Amino acid sequence: MLINNTSLLVQNIKDRKYHSVVITTHHKPDGDAMGSTLGLCAFLKEFIDDVVVCTPTDYAENLFWLPGNENVIDFEQNPAVVSEKVAGAELIFCLDFNRLSRINQLGELVGESKASKIMIDHHLEPENFSDFTYWNHQASSTCELIYLWIKESFGPGFISKDIATCLYTGLMTDTGNFQHNNTKPFTLRLAADLMEFGADHLAIHANIYDVFTLDRTKLWGYCLYKKLEIIPECRTALIYLDRDELRQFHVQTGDTEGLVNFGLGLKDIVLSVLIIDRTERVKMSFRSKGTFPANEFAGKYFEGGGHRNAAGGQSTETLEETVAKFKASIQWYKKELQAI
Ligand code: 5GP
Ligand code: MN
Repeated sequence: MLINNTSLLVQNIKDRKYHSVVITTHHKPDGDAMGSTLGLCAFLKEFIDDVVVCTPTDYAENLFWLPGNENVIDFEQNPAVVSEKVAGAELIFCLDFNRLSRINQLGELVGESKASKIMIDHHLEPENFSDFTYWNHQASSTCELIYLWIKESFGPGFISKDIATCLYTGLMTDTGNFQHNNTKPFTLRLAADLMEFGADHLAIHANIYDVFTLDRTKLWGYCLYKKLEIIPECRTALIYLDRDELRQFHVQTGDTEGLVNFGLGLKDIVLSVLIIDRTERVKMSFRSKGTFPANEFAGKYFEGGGHRNAAGGQSTETLEETVAKFKASIQWYKKELQAI
């Protein structure tokens, strides 16, 4: 179900009423987050002089080639610049997240800012922090929503090759290369549209997936050979990594992205979990098959959420305690997991 109350905002943009705009997205932005923010940024430049993308944190290097990436400002690297941009903004776009807590301390600045806020997102249970909303949890990606919003509110003539390239990237990554159940006939038509607008699908795929470091490849081999655990009665696969292991493989932001999917490739496995001891907290990724609500599980036990089949969470306990808590709590779902 689409919620769209942006008609006044669209008119204001067309009337060139805004002069300084910030676009932000979630913590550790992924392909959909960076594709949607940079695609939108390229579009808004048609109407607004000062448009800037500010991320709450850094992101994976395989996104650096995206058109417009050179102007992104990372809040952790440049807190003063980002604070000034947010304080001076008339309008703030919040893309690919729907709770201010998902953008760390930047969320406080955005919350305090007098700017009008617009949320464009596809995650469940949006928080009520924005003045304008374009939201549909059935959308494959935020890139899909940006495409529809531009096309329907302003016209397809605004979709340039650069915008199509950014949006195709998010469509491709958030659907797991058009494999996940958020891929509908409509998604593929939209991918075809973006190709017609100039997105080079071969180059995009190569830029995202054919650029891994040797360390990252060895880390994945190590995880599959030495770290993959199966909890057979719960049809669950688990990998967890401590700080020494992260150091040993010089793990960079993005190196573990997608690793959790491997567990789901195993016969009979319906839930896969990756638990990583990041310094400030323990971060968890969940992927499930069928009806198992990974987001509800993540929300109940690990302060998380997301989609039914792809969710995340966190813990402030130690890695060992978090793993033990996971193993204990998943036992409550044994029957449900066996029935899938
Ligand atoms: P990932 O495992 O790739 O980090 O996240 C999978 C999905 O879960 C994404 O849609 C992401 O937005 C959501 N997600 C990840 N971590 C969290 C979290 O800590 N809280 C909430 N609410 N959602 C999360
Ligand atoms: Mn997304």
